[in-house]
Amino acid sequence: MISIKNVRKIFPSKQGELKAVDDVNLEVQGGEIFGVIGYSGAGKSTLIRMLNGLELPTDGSVTVAGRVISKIKGAELREARQEISMIFQHFNLLWSRTVSENIAFPLEIAGVNGTQRKNRVAELIKLVGLEGRENAYPSQLSGGQKQRVGIARALANNPKVLLCDEATSALDPQTTDSILELLVDINKRLGLTIVLITHEMHVIRKICHRVAVMESGRVVELGSVLDVFKNPQEPITKRFVQQVTEPEETKETIKHLLELYPSGQVVQLSFIGEAAEQPLITNIIKDFNVVVNILQGKISHTQNGSYGTLFIHLDGLSSEIQKAIDYIHSQQVGVEVISNG
Ligand code: ADP
Repeated sequence: MISIKNVRKIFPSKQGELKAVDDVNLEVQGGEIFGVIGYSGAGKSTLIRMLNGLELPTDGSVTVAGRVISKIKGAELREARQEISMIFQHFNLLWSRTVSENIAFPLEIAGVNGTQRKNRVAELIKLVGLEGRENAYPSQLSGGQKQRVGIARALANNPKVLLCDEATSALDPQTTDSILELLVDINKRLGLTIVLITHEMHVIRKICHRVAVMESGRVVELGSVLDVFKNPQEPITKRFVQQVTEPEETKETIKHLLELYPSGQVVQLSFIGEAAEQPLITNIIKDFNVVVNILQGKISHTQNGSYGTLFIHLDGLSSEIQKAIDYIHSQQVGVEVISNG
């Protein structure tokens, strides 16, 4: 379904040139869910943008569904693009249009007539589970519902390939799971080929058949998800695999912390998205009559926001501790009280 051959993409830079994608060769089979993982700047977006002709390779060729995307232009490229849809981290919805109107938009452009369009929109609404929300505006929807609209819109013209650009990175873990389940369902039901890029290994593990690991524009490791998890070869792949195996370590961490802090409460904070842990902690210290010990954990900051876990210990009157926890809740930070000393 997709063939990427000797593809390089060079951008001009202050230092002369920047190899965003450096001699990449990949084949994706029809019906496959293929993941590309890498840290920020690895070249994932540039690679995925070359699959739908948003970016042209400097060298090499990109073929999707039998068409050499890297060589065609104008009307031919527009026609080819109908078979290659994309969903985005921030959904890219039309804010002044309702759910139905957003989903109908690509059908309008393709010249699908009134009744046919209406029926197709109803079908898509059902497929993504948005019945009852047809007339809502994007601002009235949760993140997960917005992404469902994005998916329905992307599927409107029956594409052969769905490209997902960090499609769950702005969502909380539970919503992420429901969107990933929807993607698997669509892959199975429609036989759609899916290529997704992400910096989160749990996304790869949950739904991908194969994965390519990118570093500095190159694919440094490629294999089935099972093999890569069982036997990661490159240091970067080992780091990504560790991201997912951490929950086991977390259990040990919790046991240890409960022994160390028998009084007050140990609280696990989960950050995802735009959350910043420093102002949060500063405000707790300032506004509540509790003693705060920052224990351990790991927060990663990327261009897509922060994610990770932090343990803190709150000591003081239980009513004050509760107020501090209520405050944390109001900040849209995942919070779990793990001891009641
Ligand atoms: P990722 O998606 O893995 O974060 P990108 O493909 O966005 O990586 O970027 C790869 C490299 O190419 C980065 O160093 C980025 O700054 C650079 N880059 C991406 N797009 C452009 C552009 N249009 N012009 C110049 N440099 C770019």
